Amino acid sequence: MLTRRQFLIGMGAVAASTLVSLACGKKTAFSNANSVGAVIPLDCDWVIENVSIIDGTGSLAYPGKVAVKGENIVAVGDFVYPATSKVIDGQGFVLAPGFIDIHTHTEDYVHSGESMAAVLSQGVTMQIGGNCGRSPLDIAGYFQTLPHLAINYGLLIGYATLREAVIGRVHGKTSPAALSKMQEKLAAGLQSGALGLSTGLEYFPQNYATTEELIALCEVVKEYGGFYATHIRSEYDAVLPALEEAIQIGIKANLPVQYSHIKAGYQRNWPKFPKIIEMLEEAKKSGLDITSDVYPYTYSSTDLGIKPLRPSISEENMLIAVTHPLVFYGSDSGLYSGGRASHPRAYGTFPRYLGYIVREKNTLPLEKAIAKMSGEPAKRLSLKDRGQIGPGYKADLVLFDAHEVIDKATFEHPSVLSEGIRQVWVNGQLAWSEGKVLENNKGQVIS
Ligand SMILES: [Zn+2]
Repeated sequence: MLTRRQFLIGMGAVAASTLVSLACGKKTAFSNANSVGAVIPLDCDWVIENVSIIDGTGSLAYPGKVAVKGENIVAVGDFVYPATSKVIDGQGFVLAPGFIDIHTHTEDYVHSGESMAAVLSQGVTMQIGGNCGRSPLDIAGYFQTLPHLAINYGLLIGYATLREAVIGRVHGKTSPAALSKMQEKLAAGLQSGALGLSTGLEYFPQNYATTEELIALCEVVKEYGGFYATHIRSEYDAVLPALEEAIQIGIKANLPVQYSHIKAGYQRNWPKFPKIIEMLEEAKKSGLDITSDVYPYTYSSTDLGIKPLRPSISEENMLIAVTHPLVFYGSDSGLYSGGRASHPRAYGTFPRYLGYIVREKNTLPLEKAIAKMSGEPAKRLSLKDRGQIGPGYKADLVLFDAHEVIDKATFEHPSVLSEGIRQVWVNGQLAWSEGKVLENNKGQVIS
């Protein structure tokens, strides 16, 4: 397996192949087909045509077709394909890059090789697990023993995991000796492909982590080109100093920060939300690479047991978050065995963005929302060949009906599939079609 650093260096190859593919796919070349020998025929396995292409960059949708060879997109737009190509008619539907869910807790579920219906039915082709401080410790071992991988999958390494491996599940601060052991284990995880460090500083025993200790760990992450994903120390009354701490860690260790599931919980803290946004913007302006993620529900999983339900984020604040340039989308979802969920976000997040947030509330253009589920998270993950539709990109694709796509999972019935996602391809292979998971093992480890 490539380490993260080797992978980043290897990305130069994509740019070169893009140029070749563009030359093959250009219609202008074919319209001059009478001038013999001027054209290299397009080599592809299948083509989807008559689709509205939304490419993941935030640019306007445009009509066209997309050609795929093996696991890659080889041509996009208007081109001539060989008569022998397999052709799919996507008339009336949108074709977008497969959705990327940067914030999940699905490590056990994915490792047990269960059906990915809850995930693929949302158009999600990549998840990142290991968030909020809990992950497998042996990253290499985890990936080596995966029985089946129907989606692309990457991991963060958790602070709680590192700490408990060294000193156990105990109260109190870590010693300098323990910290250096945690740094060693962190480095091993990053070397094996972990994408960064995650924390859940609101939870025991992570609440004992000091800012200095987190900076020392993030300095290791920085060496491997990773990022710091943080469920901050308080999402409630002390949310502002908690965010300030995350920003300071990013500045002092000089690494990118992903502020997990942005919110100001409890009604009395809702007025703090504009200040949170202002702090994000100021940190960005000062040069810190900081972004956040949000899920499209006003209740967190912690609220589920509370009766009557108290919203953790107001609808108004959620709608500010979902349109903000520094915020993109994640589900914060976990799944139990058999695909059971405790919160509807595990089944509904992405169709809810498309159906409720975009179509029904008309909160932002479809193209911008798609970028927040594909191009923007891909950028956070430093993935130069995913998250967009373009020649040279991996063929992670989702075909959906923009007029009908909608979530169906509710708080009473959280494990209900969404509707309107017609087909999903993972690395060029059809993985979800007309309501069914297809036999598919084409998911790749994202490291
Ligand atoms: Zn969290």
